[in-house]
Amino acid sequence: MKRKDFLKLSSAAAGLSLLPEALTAREAAPAARRSLRFAYLTDIHVKPGEVPEKGMAKALQHVQKLRPKVDFIINGGDSIMDALAATAESTQTQWDLFNKILKQENNLPVYPCIGNHDVYGWFQKNPDTSNPLYGKAWAVKALQMSERYYHFNKGKWDFIVLDSTQLNPAGGYIGKIDDEQLVWLKNKLAEIPSDHYISIISHIPILSICSGLFFNKNEPNGDLKIQRNLMHTDFLELKKLFRQYPNLKSCLSGHIHLQDELRYLDISYYCNGAVSGAWWKGAYQEFQPAYAVFEYFNDGTCTREMVPY
Ligand SMILES: [Zn+2]
Repeated sequence: MKRKDFLKLSSAAAGLSLLPEALTAREAAPAARRSLRFAYLTDIHVKPGEVPEKGMAKALQHVQKLRPKVDFIINGGDSIMDALAATAESTQTQWDLFNKILKQENNLPVYPCIGNHDVYGWFQKNPDTSNPLYGKAWAVKALQMSERYYHFNKGKWDFIVLDSTQLNPAGGYIGKIDDEQLVWLKNKLAEIPSDHYISIISHIPILSICSGLFFNKNEPNGDLKIQRNLMHTDFLELKKLFRQYPNLKSCLSGHIHLQDELRYLDISYYCNGAVSGAWWKGAYQEFQPAYAVFEYFNDGTCTREMVPY
């Protein structure tokens, strides 16, 4: 019997009695497909002060109370306000504060990613290069990371966490991965079983339309510009690499403090706002302080919900 005919017949015979059963089946489907549920907190930018300290605590308390529960947290980077231009003393204070609040308010496993503002000393007037914690070493230590980029597995899903901030010798920084990291990434992608799904985490978006909207204005000539420190400049190279892996399904980022969701060449790219909103001064453009909750399913699909807290 054709489904249409069956529905016609059954609704005629039994009125609406089919409805509750149909609803139950539909509601049960997502749970059967569900594989992972996690919170993505990015751009926390904690620093001493009532608003940032209470704000970070409140976001973490909110995550602990989520129902259904989340399995873990990904910290998308820019954990602290800034170490790039800060003194060693201020950097220590900010990391101590971050770890104190995290310890007090969180019981979930946390997978960290390095943000540009987590890098120590690059933009100091006289960079403290002799300090063994200069550059990314301090963030790696404070966040208890094994390496500045790494991989972890959760059942059917493999996560690759990148370090997307590179020093620009001409000044500032560039969003991209370095040569050593690219070799590692190529090897890692080749190692992951093809029946697993892959998700890439980077602080700076690999692809995002928010990156071109960060300054909320046009260039004098009318262009909307995507600046090199606001999106991965190696996107075209990464795109080619990603095309070899149809099991690579999503790329998650932060950095821009705005939110978007793009689908490009069968990969979902999500830019996940900021826990700190406008660096603890309310909303940034249209976006309130928020974090994301992701559901990753056993069929390689995923969904995101942004949660203002
Ligand atoms: Zn950033």
